Amino acid sequence: MGEPMIGAIEAGGTKMVLAVGRSWEEVRDAPRHLLPTTTPADTLPRVMDWLAAHHERTPLAAIGVASFGPIDFARRCIGETTPKVPWRGASWVAAVAERFGDLPLGFDTDTGAAALAEHRYGEGRGRDVVAYLTIGTGIGGGLVVGGRIVHGLLHPEMGHMVVRRRAGDDFPGTCPSHGDCLEGLASGESVKRRWHRAGGPQLPEDHPAWELESDYLSDAVVNVATITAAQVIVLGGGILAVPGLLARVQAKVRAHLNGYLAVPELTTEVDRYVVAPGLGLASGIVGAFALGRDALG
Ligand SMILES: [Zn+2]
Repeated sequence: MGEPMIGAIEAGGTKMVLAVGRSWEEVRDAPRHLLPTTTPADTLPRVMDWLAAHHERTPLAAIGVASFGPIDFARRCIGETTPKVPWRGASWVAAVAERFGDLPLGFDTDTGAAALAEHRYGEGRGRDVVAYLTIGTGIGGGLVVGGRIVHGLLHPEMGHMVVRRRAGDDFPGTCPSHGDCLEGLASGESVKRRWHRAGGPQLPEDHPAWELESDYLSDAVVNVATITAAQVIVLGGGILAVPGLLARVQAKVRAHLNGYLAVPELTTEVDRYVVAPGLGLASGIVGAFALGRDALG
């Protein structure tokens, strides 16, 4: 057990998921500690308390944080446009430094971290270009190219891409900034408001919600495939638990591309191209581990 101990934080909009481990498998299988995400003044000290208790027993070598965004990488804090208002400007860097001094910290978006985890340990193993989209309450996406999470002007914001509105769909969309972007039309929140019921498995498999949902998600996958040349696109998040939804998306991606991109992944083997996470529900926390491990250099 010579490997360094890493503290992993998956910071979600409703809950914090915490784990520690020396390997990605250990973190994948570790018992999770959950805390509600309320305000930074309340939540950050509780997260740090839990890690500090571990640190006293077995010193942590580094911490990795996979955080909801948007993230302002220039200022190294949560961005000023997050709808979680109290978190605007909140800093994981400052919170870790205050409690742990100069302990190495790796820090990225939750979806970037999940893409990294799938690239390294999941469905993206052996591929240079890996995209990860999560379809839950909101929609987000991360991209790994050559082993690195893509940052540029900011970071990818795939949840806010434009998709074609389907004929007869007059739902205005739920995105506070754009209305009918992908997140506005296809997130769990939009399913809930459009159909006036909770989304996910609460709506039956043959409900028209899922035909529409697969339309919008297939547009998203086509956009990501054509723009990024991703070698695999991983779809995570609670909505994909709906039976048959992933298969519908795969079929529509294939139909839309119509053989133009003449590779097996986009013609006869779309089911190996648009896939569920290899790490299941653990992509985010394993991604946080990977960020912490990388912070050690
Ligand atoms: Zn939007």
